[in-house]
Order: sequence, then structure tokens, then C-alpha cells
Amino acid sequence: MLKGIAASAGVSVAKVYKLETPTVVIEKKSGVPAEEIEKFDAALAKTVKDIEGVKERAAKRLKEEELAVFDAHLMMANDPELASQIKAMIEAESCNAEYATDTVANSMVAMFESMDNDYFRERAADVKDVTFRLKCNLLGLTIPDLTAIDEDSIIVAHDLTPSDTAQLNEFVKGFATEIGGKTSHSAIMANSLEIPAVVGCPGVVDACKTGDVMALDALSGEVVVNPDEDTVKAYQAKAEVYAKEKEELKVLVNEKSVTKDGHEVELAGNIGGFKDVEGVLKNGGEGVGLFRTEFLYMDSDHFPTEDEQFEAYKQVLEGMKGKKVVVRTLDIGGDKHLDYYEFPKEMNPFLGYRAIRLCLKETDIFRTQLRALCRASVYGKLCIMFPMIATVKEFCDAKAIYEDVKAELIAEGVAVADNIEVGMMVEIPAAAVLADQFAKYADFFSIGTNDLIQYSMAADRMSEHVSYLYQPYNPSVLRLIANTIKGAHSQGKWAGMCGAMAGEPNAVPILLGLGLDEFSMSATQILKARKVVKSLSYAEMQELAQECLNKETMEEVLEYVTSKVGE
Ligand code: PEP
Ligand code: MG
Repeated sequence: MLKGIAASAGVSVAKVYKLETPTVVIEKKSGVPAEEIEKFDAALAKTVKDIEGVKERAAKRLKEEELAVFDAHLMMANDPELASQIKAMIEAESCNAEYATDTVANSMVAMFESMDNDYFRERAADVKDVTFRLKCNLLGLTIPDLTAIDEDSIIVAHDLTPSDTAQLNEFVKGFATEIGGKTSHSAIMANSLEIPAVVGCPGVVDACKTGDVMALDALSGEVVVNPDEDTVKAYQAKAEVYAKEKEELKVLVNEKSVTKDGHEVELAGNIGGFKDVEGVLKNGGEGVGLFRTEFLYMDSDHFPTEDEQFEAYKQVLEGMKGKKVVVRTLDIGGDKHLDYYEFPKEMNPFLGYRAIRLCLKETDIFRTQLRALCRASVYGKLCIMFPMIATVKEFCDAKAIYEDVKAELIAEGVAVADNIEVGMMVEIPAAAVLADQFAKYADFFSIGTNDLIQYSMAADRMSEHVSYLYQPYNPSVLRLIANTIKGAHSQGKWAGMCGAMAGEPNAVPILLGLGLDEFSMSATQILKARKVVKSLSYAEMQELAQECLNKETMEEVLEYVTSKVGE
């Protein structure tokens, strides 16, 4: 059995299709320029046709925006600059076309990669992808065509490129790759196609060959090659249970999130951009509880302009069709960098110059985002929240800038919605402790447990060495959450949670009992959470939550919760 990272949930048992890309060996040879150029032109024309063909087959399964990778490749293949550089080299050196292609491609890739910017690194991947095809066509090598798979298969590969994943058809029941993480391109694509995927699984390529049977458990990250009969049965049973549960949960898509005794809460989704909106709606999300806008900035090679941001926010607000959208203003710093902005060097960036601290200093950046948000506000139900608020003054200063921006737009004759709620993340213990005071000024709270836990326990959320201290169920953390919710309610405000804890089936009963009003999580967790909410009594959970607050350890809390509600 091999172990990797479960990147897209599900379980499958099927035959292995090992993706073996041809090995390209390039040697420099002398050639007659006119003949080599003719060979090159023919190979380039075939490359363009191949990409068009793959795009056409992929279009049966993928959405327009997911086909963009092929448009980028076609643009690259049709780029006169690429062809003219290669031809110039063939003429200057009287060398073979494949050598010239390889040399020009390598220098282009090196140039893009040296730019230290995500956008250009992606371009480097495009050049590699397209010129690899080109070299194979020059050498007469065949690239495997994944769209031709016609029996149930699990793909095994070192990694899957964007164009590989875009070719997966309905016979692909999952994939396992040597490299990659939860947020790698292949993992994101697997989630979007809803196929099980285990990535970052060292040794998987050598462990199997095409035709072997594989059990892929993308709930636990386990991969078994040629399992015995009993093991196959066990995984098939697990696959059935998972598929059945998924199907059963679907009936809850349009239901309210209400307890047996009539207490209603809101279950929302966390998003990184417009592409995630469909997932939230499909999974019955009642709103967006966290739009992490930093992705807009991280995916760009410059600070996104007011118009660029306006379009992005408008698209999300319209996409959510009037449902509430909580947009978090720029939360950059810590582990999140921008290629085009120099952060000060600090010993502890997580405790340093980041998020609202930066926005209150770099007010131009902050005002641009707030202007874009206010302009977009008329296209839906917008809530704005500020990240990493530690003091009441920070919140009031940020709110004052918002008020000023809003007044400025209105004076310019621009329409701004009059029902925008302005709240804050509670992710610093100081804010959780003083929640009743903050609630006088903030319209709502959203508890960011990912950070709240790391700051409460003084345990870096990225460090595996102190991961045992990452304890959502520690009574100290629960008391901070309880105090935050109580503080909000004392001023008639609502409290949500958008940290990962909100989607944990064991946490939902406690949070419900503490009076949490809104739970925001990954889209795929929403229906399960709704099932849990519907199975519980609010009155009983209130008692359960109070008991949890009086425990000594997280183990005691978990034991108590599972004994009472059995998840
Ligand atoms: C959090 O801290 O819980 C949170 C939701 O924000 P992020 O994970 O983006 O820091
Ligand atoms: Mg946070």
C-alpha cells in the first residue's frame, strides 16, 4: 500500500492506465535549411491540428473557461515569434529542426522561469507543453491520447499537466500522481470534475504497469496495486457507501439548514474567485461566507486595477443571484506573497506587517479595493470584512476609510448599495476576548479559526513539528469562540465562522450549541454539515456546548461529543 495526499474525495477500483510520455532525445545534426524549415512547418501545422483536436474532444466535458489552457497553447503554437526564432537558427547554423526547436524552447522557458512571477511561470509551462508536442511530431513520436480511453481506468503518472487533465473523459475513474499537493492544478481540476485523486504519492509510478488493478482511496490517501479479492471487495464497499452518501446528500440541496426543534442557521461556502461560485450553488450553499480576495492579487503580475477588481466582484455577486457574499479585503503577508510588492524582512511574518496592518498604511491599495467593492455592491448582497483586526481602533480606522470612499463615489454620482454590512474577522485572540466592545462598531463577525488557533496556542499553522498543538477542540479555543458569539449577540449582531473548523462534522454540534449563526466552509462540505444540523436539537446542543466549555482537554471534548452525537 502506498500513501499520498487525498486531493479530491472518492474511492475507485479500476484498471491502471499508466501515462507514459515518450522520451525525447535531441542531437545536433547538420541539415539543409530549406528542407529542415519545410519539416518544421509540417510539424508545426500538425501540432496546431493536434491541439485543436484535443480541445474539441475536451470541449464535450469541460466548461469554456477550463478550455482556456488550449487557447493559450494554440496562441503559443501560432506565435510568429517562436517560429521565426527557430527558423532563424536553422538558417544560421544549418542544423536540424528538432535541435533548433529544443534550443529556442529551452531559452524561452529559462527566460520565463527566471521572471519569478506566477503568470510567467505558467507561460513557461505552456512553452514546454507546446514545444514538447512539436519535438515529438518532428521525431515521429506519438503522444498518448487520453481522450481515447474507453474503459474504466485510473491514470497513474508522475504529474498531470493542465492539458492532460483537460483531456480526462468519463471513463477516467481517478488518478494518482507522484508529485503535487492539495492546491496543485491537477487537484483543483479533479475536484471540479468530481473524480477521486491522490497526489504527492511517491513510488506510485514504479509500483504499477498499465493493466494492473488499482484501489484508489482518495478519502484516506491510500493506493493499493493489485489488491487481493478481499481488499477489492472492501474498497468497492467503501466506494458504494461514499457514492450512496453523496447521492443521499443531494436531496438536501434546496433544504433549509434547520435543527429538529426549529433553530435555523446559514451554511455558506468559501471561495477564491468566480470559478468556485458554481460549486457553492450546486452544493446548496446559502451564500458565500468568505471570498478570499488575495487570489485576485496573487494571480496577477500587478496590483489589480479598480476596474479589474470591479469586474471580479460584480461577477461573483451576480453569480450568487442575490445571496449574501462576504468579501474579505486584502489578506496578504504571512505566507502569502506578491511577486510585485516588496514586504519588509521580518523574523515572524505571521505576526508582522500583513493584512489590515498593511492596508491601513498603504491606503491607496486599500481605497482601490474598497472603491471596486462599493461600485460592485449594486449587483447583489455585499458584506465587507477586514482581516486580522487586533484593536477597536484598527476596525474604526478601516471603517472610516470605507465611509470616505463610499462618500467619494456617491459625490461622483456612482451608485452604491445602501445595505452593505461591514464586519471583521475574529482571528486574533485580543479581538475574541474583547468581542463585546468590537460588536458596537462591526455589523458582524466571522471567526477565522485557522489563525485564531495558531495565535491562541502559539503554534505555527504551517509547522508539522508543532501540529499536535493545532487543537480546534481545546476548551480554551472553544471559550474564545463562545465569547466572540456572545459578544456579537450582546449588540444584536450576527457571528459566523469561515475557518476550516466550521465544516468539521464533529465541530458543528458544538458551534451550533454556542449559537453560531453562519458556517462557511468548502463547498463540498456543505451538504454533510446540513445533514448534521438537521439531525440535531438546538436545545440539546446548547447543553452539550456548555459541557464542552468545562472540559480540560481536547480529547475529553471530542470523546464527549462523539459519545453524544456519534460522528
Ligand atoms: C482563518 O484564518 O481561519 C481564515 C479563514 O483565513 P485564512 O485561512 O485565509 O488565513
Ligand atoms: Mg486568517
